[in-house]
Amino acid sequence: MSSRRAFFKDAASAAGIVSCGCCFADAARAFQQAASTSRRPVTLGGRRIKVIDFHAHCAVPEAMALMGRKPSAQDPLILGPGRLREMDEQRIDVAALSINPYWYAAERDLAGRIIQLQNEKLAELCAAHPDRFVAFASVALQHPDLAAAQLEEGVKKLGLRGAMIGGSVNGEELSAPRFEPFWAKAESLGVPVFIHPQGVPELQKRLAGNGLLTNVIGNPLETTIALSHLIFDGTLDRFPALKICAAHGGGYLPSYADRSDHGCPTFPSACTKTLQKRPTEYLKQLYFDSLVFTGEALRHLVAQCGASQIVLGSDWPYPWNSTSVDHVLATPSLSDAEREAILSGNARKLLRIDS
Ligand SMILES: [Zn+2]
Repeated sequence: MSSRRAFFKDAASAAGIVSCGCCFADAARAFQQAASTSRRPVTLGGRRIKVIDFHAHCAVPEAMALMGRKPSAQDPLILGPGRLREMDEQRIDVAALSINPYWYAAERDLAGRIIQLQNEKLAELCAAHPDRFVAFASVALQHPDLAAAQLEEGVKKLGLRGAMIGGSVNGEELSAPRFEPFWAKAESLGVPVFIHPQGVPELQKRLAGNGLLTNVIGNPLETTIALSHLIFDGTLDRFPALKICAAHGGGYLPSYADRSDHGCPTFPSACTKTLQKRPTEYLKQLYFDSLVFTGEALRHLVAQCGASQIVLGSDWPYPWNSTSVDHVLATPSLSDAEREAILSGNARKLLRIDS
């Protein structure tokens, strides 16, 4: 806990890290100085591996201000030097930073300005710490042609490694035909799209009350709905080379996947589209993060989807699991080759990170 407190303190003093171009060099030096000297590199079979966290949040306050939002200086989403210390403590070498979408209600011009600012700031941060950070582009998916252009610019001009999007856009499913220009661009660029749920606002009333069920149930439920539409509405058939990664182990879908294979045989009149594969087979082409908490849950995810489809996800700065690396290392069913793939190799390929 002391490290977390230290982080908040550092974050407050370093709030300008992604918000102030003129002091960027100073901030970068502060980052470097903050790196812990007690790093405990992960080795497997005597070989050092580069651990990559696919699921790491952050925020750019100046972009949020364009939407009338003002995070406090203590907001843990604002990166500060303590971030490197926490990465070191958690044995994470590289974090793939992303920003949860809050701009889906923005009209086109405003959305353009928010995204440009965010993508440029993240690119700047990554350039200052090329060995510790890569980043996903933000995209204004409510304007699909703009989102496609933002992704292309983010990847080709700014060196970003893919995009992060929500599990739906203002109540519209990601499989809606109007989003196809974005999927086509992501497929042609060959970059991953990280789907992070934003909950299911339609269920707000039923999920109210004790336990933050809007998040605990709502988030994995949204991911389950989003992936199921991409499968059942034929999006993955139309864009077979898409590299989609779903947060939180894909929500509930991999845990109860076989039901998806039995719906159409049981109720054929409810199925108007013919898919190219059985629904569960699409899970073997999707990617999932490892945030499923137990060794048994990770064993099942691997059995259902394949170790080649799983990447490390810490969900930083939310302390769901501060031992995400140890979780993978300690899962008894995994071979060292599978551990290496989950902690490093799969993400390295997806994000184009040198070994
Ligand atoms: Zn998250």
